[in-house]
Amino acid sequence: MSDSTSKDWKPRTHAVHGGTRRSQYGEVSEAIFLTQGFVYDSAEAAAQRFQAAGEDEFIYARYGNPTVRMFEERIALLEGAEDGFATASGMAAVSGALSAMLKAGDRVVSARALFGSCLYVLEEILTRYGVEVEFVDGTDLEAWEAAITPDTTAVFFESISNPTLEVVDIAAVSKLAHAVGATVLVDNVFATPAFSNAIAQGADVVIYSATKHIDGQGRALGGIILGTRDFIRKTVEPYMKHTGGSMSPFTAWVMLKGLETLDLRVRVQAGSALALAEALTGHTALSRVIFPGHSSHAQHALVQTQMGGKGGTVLSLDLKGGQEAAFRFLNALTIPVISNNLGDAKSILTHPATTTHQRLPQDQKDILGITPGLVRMSVGIEDPDDLIADVLQALEKAG
Ligand SMILES: *Cc1c(COP(=O)(O)O)cnc(C)c1O
Repeated sequence: MSDSTSKDWKPRTHAVHGGTRRSQYGEVSEAIFLTQGFVYDSAEAAAQRFQAAGEDEFIYARYGNPTVRMFEERIALLEGAEDGFATASGMAAVSGALSAMLKAGDRVVSARALFGSCLYVLEEILTRYGVEVEFVDGTDLEAWEAAITPDTTAVFFESISNPTLEVVDIAAVSKLAHAVGATVLVDNVFATPAFSNAIAQGADVVIYSATKHIDGQGRALGGIILGTRDFIRKTVEPYMKHTGGSMSPFTAWVMLKGLETLDLRVRVQAGSALALAEALTGHTALSRVIFPGHSSHAQHALVQTQMGGKGGTVLSLDLKGGQEAAFRFLNALTIPVISNNLGDAKSILTHPATTTHQRLPQDQKDILGITPGLVRMSVGIEDPDDLIADVLQALEKAG
């Protein structure tokens, strides 16, 4: 095995070469070590490895595997984190990171606008184990300040919320959390590793669903928890390796190959999302066009500092004609598909009120701005002119 990783490289170089481990065959493309276990040269060697495994010594794939390790190192280098632990899904990463560090009596402050399963973990599961959870409006710094009391252990939020694309100020919330010694965990899916400065801005732990932009081609579920070496190896790893939410070597290989083209894909997607936002802003069939990278977004200044002006790859449109118009619009599209993933090479549209957020009570939908006319569009890598033309003709048909 050889590891040719230089820490001085820029993110795009890390995305292609970071963490590479070559076997004695000198393969160009990373090897898939599709093995659950590892053979020891002697009984003494086995005993030694169980006592203290070195960097490139593996015991059991639930604990670690060379292909998984390549993925963990590559994305950690990309994100500017010391280390990472790869998980079976994004939710294994969210629930694993929180469960690994929390205990009964701890207090968590979280943004209210969350991915449905994240909300379930915080509201239904952690509270069952005696963790106190308070939800705040993620864009309201005064609400964060009031809620982050000295007994707060952790702060959790999605840096860009789904589906209304509100941006949480990572630096400001981290400052409030760190003043009381709380750990800041950021679910950074919508920012993507390409546009993230979350660690530099103060996040202690960054979590991705690799299912989204990292795979980027809708093939596999995966996730990653990134943080300090101490947090990952002493807090996260013992929890994950014993509870079983580790990533499979085959998935790690899919995600490694995804990282190689991540930057190319998401920059094209973000550019097309901005072009769509520009083409659609002011359209008579729409009451709102929400895109963090567009100058009309309420937090456009924050997007400049936090994401270098890139608003991600997702935009949301609110049709004046409500649910009926939204359904007519979705059904009239010819290029994007109706589905609920995001970050894919294919453009994907979702009607949150009747799908991803269906179970939310009406008052919560109202608070979060999930109106009957709202559709979420994950912009793919198709030609933007074709996408704009298709969306315009479908809006026409939606009436
Ligand atoms: C998709 C998603 C998750 C969950 O990831 P899975 O890979 O589906 O488990 C968590 N948070 C956010 C913001 C997501 O978009």
